[in-house]
Amino acid sequence: MISATLRNDPGNSGRRPGDAAVERCPTRSLGAVGAGVAVVTGASSGIGAATVRRLSSEGFEVVAAARRMDRLQDLAGETGCLPVAVDVTDQAAVDALRESLSACRILVNNAGGAFGLAPIAEADDDDWRRMYDVNVLGTMRMTRALLPLLVASGDGVVVNVTSTAGHGVYEGGAGYNAAKYAQRAMTEALRLELCGQPVRVTEIAPGMVRTEEFSLVRFDGDQERADAVYAGVPGVLVADDIADCIVWTVTRPWNVNIDSMIVRPRAQAANHKVHREH
Ligand code: NDP
Repeated sequence: MISATLRNDPGNSGRRPGDAAVERCPTRSLGAVGAGVAVVTGASSGIGAATVRRLSSEGFEVVAAARRMDRLQDLAGETGCLPVAVDVTDQAAVDALRESLSACRILVNNAGGAFGLAPIAEADDDDWRRMYDVNVLGTMRMTRALLPLLVASGDGVVVNVTSTAGHGVYEGGAGYNAAKYAQRAMTEALRLELCGQPVRVTEIAPGMVRTEEFSLVRFDGDQERADAVYAGVPGVLVADDIADCIVWTVTRPWNVNIDSMIVRPRAQAANHKVHREH
């Protein structure tokens, strides 16, 4: 269990991007009780929250990072993880998290998502900017900040949660495709750069995963449109299926690097080829 505590900041819960994240980091440093600190971003829902649950049950000291502290606190009550409010698009917040840690062996860069499904002819600059910022720059910022600790651990692992959208394009997906291709490129470059150092680098590329918020965020809260994405797909993946893959990856022996894992439901043979039963 993580022994660190949060500052007594009653205004902590439910803050959104741009808040003074520096105030919301743990007062005591982690890692003092031993190795096995895992940092998971995007931990307040979906794949990130499922990964926190699985890593916690495997005995890792898990730092759960996202913007919505209320959700992280619920997860902390359930798993014993350390909830930390971090917006990965905010360098000061990432720096504050880095300062609060004295060790880190696992980094799961999971925070991300898609905004909109507009064709390029109608592309929204702000949506594209936000997708690049969270999926690409967020992954870069977190990795850059925690790399010294990952190296110092002697057996670090970086897991970047990309997407099959980073392996094949689709109409309306260009902004998200571009971001996920970029995140994937970064993953591969990082592995080259770290060759010879004690850090493994893995890409997990999920296909269709029914999480509570991914499509809802993409379609700006339109529940009907979000539900239609998964309608009639037998055995659509759930967050825990991807968490299972992430945890399997990071629990391989030190010399086994899983470069890339593409994980789809059986009913999805390709991004555009989905079997539905109506
Ligand atoms: P969710 O929308 O359920 O979760 C996204 C998480 O990211 C939330 O915890 C959110 O928390 C967090 N997040 C968003 N922006 C930021 C930010 N700026 N800083 C910190 N945290 C942030 O999505 P999923 O669990 O489905 O997706 C997780 C990852 O998997 C994403 O990278 C996504 O692109 C990828 N993926 C998902 C697929 C799917 O079908 N679901 C398929 C392929 C890939 P908060 O709002 O509290 O900050």
